[in-house]
Amino acid sequence: MFFSDIIAQEEVHEQLVHAVQNNRLSHAMIFLAPEGAGGLPMAFAFTQFLVCEDRQDNEPCGRCAACVKAAQFIHPDIHYSYPVIPRKSGDKPISTDYIAEWREFVSQQPYGNAYDWLQFIGAENKQGNITTHECRTSSEN
Ligand SMILES: [Zn+2]
Repeated sequence: MFFSDIIAQEEVHEQLVHAVQNNRLSHAMIFLAPEGAGGLPMAFAFTQFLVCEDRQDNEPCGRCAACVKAAQFIHPDIHYSYPVIPRKSGDKPISTDYIAEWREFVSQQPYGNAYDWLQFIGAENKQGNITTHECRTSSEN
């Protein structure tokens, strides 16, 4: 995903590119945006920009192997955590259990919200969670 795909977030785009160009990135960042404002697409564009092997001035190149993988949500250095539901009683699901569904969902609906996601995986009225099991698993990697 490109920054130019995201509507009305030029200021955030400039700040993110500036941070990279000045080697002033935090070890962690949270993208918090009102629904529909493009927080998730901005995170996708930014991570692609970070891993791009031929960064242009203010956009990822979109052609290198890293960009191709990032655009398909398969880059090995980009990890995703999102709420999931147990497939059966007693399961302790983690995000990667739903990675195929996640890739399909974000490809189709990059502006989708948590509710859209949970409906996509058939949660109906179940509450999705990022579990402590996932936090422990992720911290071991
Ligand atoms: Zn690239």
